[in-house]
Amino acid sequence: MQQIDTDSIRKDFPILDSKIYGKELIYFDNAATTQKPLSVIDTISESYKKINANVHRGVHRLSQLSTEGHEAGRERVRKFINADKSREIIFTRGTTESINLVASSFGEAFINEGDNIVITAMEHHANIVPWQLLSMRKKIEIRVVPLTPLGEMNMEAFRTMMDEKTKLVSVAHVSNVLGTVNPVKEIIAEAHSRNIPVLIDGAQGVPHQKIDVQDMDADFYAFSAHKIYGPTGIGVLYGKEKLLDAIPPYQGGGEMIGHVTFQKTTFNELPFKFEAGTPDYIGVIATIAALDYADAVGMDNIRRHEEELMKYTTEKMKAIQGMKIFGEAPGKGGVISFVVEGTHPYDVGMLLDKQGVAVRTGHLCAQPLMDILGVPGVVRISFGMYNTIQECDACISALKKSVDMLRR
Ligand code: PLP
Repeated sequence: MQQIDTDSIRKDFPILDSKIYGKELIYFDNAATTQKPLSVIDTISESYKKINANVHRGVHRLSQLSTEGHEAGRERVRKFINADKSREIIFTRGTTESINLVASSFGEAFINEGDNIVITAMEHHANIVPWQLLSMRKKIEIRVVPLTPLGEMNMEAFRTMMDEKTKLVSVAHVSNVLGTVNPVKEIIAEAHSRNIPVLIDGAQGVPHQKIDVQDMDADFYAFSAHKIYGPTGIGVLYGKEKLLDAIPPYQGGGEMIGHVTFQKTTFNELPFKFEAGTPDYIGVIATIAALDYADAVGMDNIRRHEEELMKYTTEKMKAIQGMKIFGEAPGKGGVISFVVEGTHPYDVGMLLDKQGVAVRTGHLCAQPLMDILGVPGVVRISFGMYNTIQECDACISALKKSVDMLRR
């Protein structure tokens, strides 16, 4: 088993050398966004210096170079998630936009009044609100699969909640609050046995494990580059060709057209049909550097490393009196959400920050789940490939100090 060499990895992430209030930064907010290696930062800078020109439209050399870079990015993403064809890779602004695209275009074509879609109680707002917007337009029902006490999707309930009116199942690959890794292959097989397509929200899936969309047989898979060491503003929607061909464009504008007259417009072929306007081609090119970096470290190594940090930290945290950790699903990922009796998550987060530890506090864009957990918010520690056991120890002592101060 190859271990992660965090010493050498950390040298590639300049921000990790930062001091926060004079203390060494411990960055434990990776589920919100990851830091970027020099190769990504340099690619952005070099691309603007050397090949910047709008893509797909120019006959000149620079435009050819940027177009080649952009399309190389599509092919790199295809390979990273093992899609069958690069035309099945649509670039968006992020997971949120990818899910909105499906809600809008698939919703337009295939979901009608009286139909329902199935989500789970652990979804991020990005996989709830787009369906509610669709529901406002089309009066559809949103069915929510309950969770088990360990924070897993209740599979028995799931099976009973699908019927002939269910037009889509849309489920997080990994919960950003509980760390639960959903059994996506099984979920998809269950839905497919009833001829229901499945969208997987992979925002927290892609950064932490190997993804094979063909093996899981996902119909749609959405993720964001910024959560896997890539630039902000770049997202991916993978969709099976047959489905993408069958649904209407999401936005109108340049590049998504075949031919335009004032009377009628025909649409471009995949993937351009879904990419209206100038795309963030520099971001796409930098995403190649991010995926290359993650692959060089090894997605299996990253998963093992983060799991080790999560287990180590969880055990130490349990010794803190009044500690309540949410999410105990077997095989959970590198996320620890918690509250400590007698303290407010926001105060804990602020005091950790003063000691250089960056964590997330609040509802984590999962307010319905917070309601189920019976808390207004939590503190969340989330790990990345560059985090170390020493940082976990430092975080635990900072946490103990914060809790002591708040209880005094
Ligand atoms: N889905 C999940 C599970 C997430 O954790 C997030 C972000 O935290 C999103 C969707 C939205 O991602 P983005 O803000 O990059 O669109």
